[in-house]
Amino acid sequence: MTKYLIIGQGAAGTSAARTLRQIDPLASVTMISAESDWFYSRVDLPDIIAGKLSPEDAILAGREQFDALKIECRIGETARRIDPAGQAVELSSGARVPYDKLLLATGSEPVVPPMPGGGARGVHYLWTLADTRRILEASRAARSAVVVGAGLIGLKTALALKERGLEVAVVEKMLHVMPQQLDETAAAILADKVQGAGIQVVTGMQVNALETVDGKVTGVLLEQRRIVADMVVIAVGVRANVALGRGAGLEVGRGLVTNEFLETSAPGIYAAGDAAEIRDLLTGAPIVPATWGVAVEQGKVAALNMAGKRIAYDGAIGMNSVDIAGIPMISVGTINPAADDRQFTVQSGDTYRKVVVRGKQVNGVLFLGNVRQAGVAANLVLRRAEIGEIDILSSNFSFVSVMAQ
Ligand SMILES: Cc1cc2nc3c(=O)[nH]c(=O)nc-3n(C[C@H](O)[C@H](O)[C@H](O)COP(=O)(O)OP(=O)(O)OC[C@H]3O[C@@H](n4cnc5c(N)ncnc54)[C@H](O)[C@@H]3O)c2cc1C
Repeated sequence: MTKYLIIGQGAAGTSAARTLRQIDPLASVTMISAESDWFYSRVDLPDIIAGKLSPEDAILAGREQFDALKIECRIGETARRIDPAGQAVELSSGARVPYDKLLLATGSEPVVPPMPGGGARGVHYLWTLADTRRILEASRAARSAVVVGAGLIGLKTALALKERGLEVAVVEKMLHVMPQQLDETAAAILADKVQGAGIQVVTGMQVNALETVDGKVTGVLLEQRRIVADMVVIAVGVRANVALGRGAGLEVGRGLVTNEFLETSAPGIYAAGDAAEIRDLLTGAPIVPATWGVAVEQGKVAALNMAGKRIAYDGAIGMNSVDIAGIPMISVGTINPAADDRQFTVQSGDTYRKVVVRGKQVNGVLFLGNVRQAGVAANLVLRRAEIGEIDILSSNFSFVSVMAQ
C-alpha cells in the first residue's frame, strides 16, 4: 500500500488528496495542516470581515468529508523537518510520519516589512481564517483603520472594514492601486470607485513607521503626514512558504522549483500551489501565479504524477479575475507592454479595455468594468492567436470582429 503524505490543507493540498483517493481507493493518504481550521476558502475572508459571511460559511470541507474519503488529517500540527533519505517528515509534536511520495502544498505567507512599530498590538495580516477572526474582533473596538498596500487583498480588506463602519485609509507606495494587475488608467477608474465608497486612497507614499502608545498602534507615519488608526492591516504582498523544502535542501527560486511533472529537485517530493515555482505558459519564465484556480489544478496534476501517471504540466498564465468595489476586472497575460509591444486601448466611463500585442501575437488583455467576452479575449492569449490591429481598433469594446488568423 502506497503511503502519500501531503503538507498543507489548502486548495492545492486538498485537490491533491481528493485526486489520490480517486486514483487509488486503497492507498494511505495523510494530510498535515498547521492551521486548526478545516479546509476553507481564503477568497471568502474579506466577506467575513464585511459581515456578509460567517467564518463557518467559508469552510469547504470538514472532518466528515475527509473521513468519508478515508483521508487521515492531522489538523493543527506543523511539519518541522523532512528527512528525504529516511522518507519521513517530523512534526512539531515529535512524531515521525513516513511516506513513499510527499507533496509540499505549503502555500504562501504574508510579507512582513521591517518597520518601527510593526510588532505593536492592533497590527494585523490577512491570510488565515484565524487572522480574520482577530481582525473581526479588533474592528469591533476600533473606529479607524489603515490598510498598508493597495493590492487585491489590501483593497478588499479596506472595503470590508469600511462596510463595518470604520474610517478607512489605504496607503500604497507605488503610484497607483493594484500595480501588479492594472495599468495607470484602469487603476484610476478603480481608485475612484474605492474613494466613492468613502475610503481615503493615498498612493505614491510609503509608510515609514507605525505610531504606538503603550505598545498599541495609534497611527501610521508617512513622509510628512500621519494618519490616525486604531488598527492597521498590512497587505504588502505574499511570498511562497518554502522554509520546509529549503530545510531539506530542495532547490528554491521564487518558490520550490519544480519540473514539468511538478516534482521538486528531490525525487519523490512534489510541490503544488502557491509554494511551487512553475513556468509561464507564454514566456517560459519562472513564476508563482499564487491564485486559487491554479493551485487546484496543480494539486491535481501533482497527485497524478505522485501516483505514477506521468502527466506533464505545461505551466500557467498570469490571470486574475476579481470584482472590487463593484467593478469586475480580468487581466490575462502581459498587460504592461515591453518596448517593442503595441498596445490598443478603448475607454468609456468605467469601462476600459486594453490589448497588448507582441509582433502579431495577442500577449495580454485587460478588461475592467464591462468584462463581456473576456473569455474570448483570454482564449486569444492562451492560444497565442495572431490578430490584425484594424480589427482591434474597430471592435469598439467587442471582440466579435477580432479574427484569429
Ligand atoms: C484574502 C485573500 C483573498 C484572495 N482572493 C483571491 C481571489 O480572489 N482569487 C484567487 O485566485 N486567489 C485569491 N487568493 C489567493 C488564494 O487564496 C491562494 O492562491 C490559494 O489559497 C493558494 O492555495 P495553496 O493550497 O497553494 O496554499 P494555502 O491556501 O496557503 O495553504 C497552505 C497551507 O499549508 C499550511 N502549511 C504551511 N507550512 C506548513 C507546515 N510546515 N506544516 C503544516 N502545514 C503547513 C498552511 O498553514 C496553509 O494552511 C486570496 C487570498 C487571500 C488571503
